[in-house]
Amino acid sequence: MNLETKLAQIGNRKDPATGAFNPPIHHSTTYRHPRLGESTGFDYTRTKNPTRQILEDAIADLEGGVRGFAYASGMAAVVGILTLFQPGDHLVLSDDLYGGTYRVMEQMFRQYGISGTYVDTGDLSAVRDAISENTKAVFIETPTNPLMKITDLRGVVKIAQEHDILTIVDNTFLSPYFQRPLELGADIVFHSATKYLGGHNDVLAGLVVAKSEDLAERLFFLQNSIGAVLGPQDCWLVMRGMKTLALRMQRHDANARILAEFLQNHPKIEKVLYPGLADHPGHLVQAQQSTGFGGMISFYVKKPEFVPQILERIQLIAFAESLGGPESMITFPARQTHADIPEDVRNAIGVTDTLLRFSVGLEHSEDLLADLEQALR
Ligand SMILES: *Cc1c(COP(=O)(O)O)cnc(C)c1O
Repeated sequence: MNLETKLAQIGNRKDPATGAFNPPIHHSTTYRHPRLGESTGFDYTRTKNPTRQILEDAIADLEGGVRGFAYASGMAAVVGILTLFQPGDHLVLSDDLYGGTYRVMEQMFRQYGISGTYVDTGDLSAVRDAISENTKAVFIETPTNPLMKITDLRGVVKIAQEHDILTIVDNTFLSPYFQRPLELGADIVFHSATKYLGGHNDVLAGLVVAKSEDLAERLFFLQNSIGAVLGPQDCWLVMRGMKTLALRMQRHDANARILAEFLQNHPKIEKVLYPGLADHPGHLVQAQQSTGFGGMISFYVKKPEFVPQILERIQLIAFAESLGGPESMITFPARQTHADIPEDVRNAIGVTDTLLRFSVGLEHSEDLLADLEQALR
């Protein structure tokens, strides 16, 4: 079935006893065993919970993997994945990585002997050059956050397979509605479901999908051992959000295109980073590996002093840090999401004092245009 159909039907027909359209929220932490050596399939909720199971099956189906895993946050999902590695292992990562992922790699996993090299994964020869004897995975965001750089997923997968290492993709920005990395050969895909999948700025969650049974077994062992699972109530909220993912992504994408074009022609704007624009360096690659460009835009204003002025004057659009919800918001990455990245590193990659990131919401584009226009004036 098509993705729109799968999304609309999430959780339906999961409770034959009542015919409920919406999955029941199973709060029970424990389950009675019929007799010694037998189980209903559910023993204890950290290991397996019926509500969580429905969400995990749904995301696995949407991404085209064998098994899904729901975590308490996107970062818990990242940690769940990174604990696959051992002291001495090395990873090649996108240099413009979500700030929290960079922080957990550098301030936590490095202590445990797992190191990372950060390269522009959009440059396949840089990826190839960064791989060494002990490299175990390439860890990608595409588009990257906040610079909207595009990585050729098929190209990276080919290099990774030549070296017999994993390709891991943070698919938060596009969601499975626009991009399905496992179908392009990646091994693990994950989401901060707090963003587009949940989609309503009301639930914190992370989702992971593995392509092979072997990886799924290892991830399941770690998820159960670490215990940072998503609670049943939050699983239900994520599923409720996901039912409308297709419609929301279409509107986010349409609105972002209109606003990107407006910003591109505005005299106070230096540059707009939106892969949907024909002059974006990753435009063609993204057109070949995804079916849309998404709702995220980053842009440089001409002078640093414009930043506090814009953030103060926007009225409909909020100054806040997150993305993927109905309400439009602007983030100042250098001071918010990427504040833990040293200033010289930040500036070197382009996360400067004039960069703003815009999560274009579901409002009418005319109202968003009017708000931006008055704030910029
Ligand atoms: C928000 C985000 C994360 C972290 O997810 P949380 O749900 O906030 O823990 C990871 N990657 C990307 C791209 C994100 O936007």
